Amino acid sequence: MSDTYLINKPFINIVTDPIMLVNDQCRADITCIQCQKLYQIIVDIKAIEKYRDGDYVQSCFPSMPATQREMFVSGVCSKCWDAMWDIEVEE
Ligand SMILES: [Zn+2]
Repeated sequence: MSDTYLINKPFINIVTDPIMLVNDQCRADITCIQCQKLYQIIVDIKAIEKYRDGDYVQSCFPSMPATQREMFVSGVCSKCWDAMWDIEVEE
């Protein structure tokens, strides 16, 4: 088993270890591009492979909360996402 689950997004780092691999899982370390906070999300390896191969995030991670999916797509965490909307509705 290699650890080459490279995804063409600089804020995503896929980490595998033998214990997670037993369950066909790996960890996605995603650093928010706004606040630089590190989020660690356990995901299915097959889903990661689908995503790496260019499938849509919705079809790769159907049970994932929308806030986590957004991190895969844009690298912005839910807190920063909410903050952006707060700014927009401010008067
Ligand atoms: Zn953030």
